[in-house]
Amino acid sequence: MGRIDKGIKCSVSGCGQDAVRSLSTEKVRSAGLNVGSSQRRSYLCKEHYKEYKKKTKKDKQLEKWRYGH
Ligand SMILES: [Zn+2]
Repeated sequence: MGRIDKGIKCSVSGCGQDAVRSLSTEKVRSAGLNVGSSQRRSYLCKEHYKEYKKKTKKDKQLEKWRYGH
């Protein structure tokens, strides 16, 4: 996580936008995003990062519901 270099592109296949965030590929995949690379880190553009956050948030809410009772 954290800052990334300029010029790095989003790892989601078919995207190609400038990346704003770097995350572990495992996490990105578990959020349902189709990252083409086999690298340990994946890069997400603004839009896909938003999508990633949305999906992980949903998972967290589900966990809360599942384990909170
Ligand atoms: Zn993207």
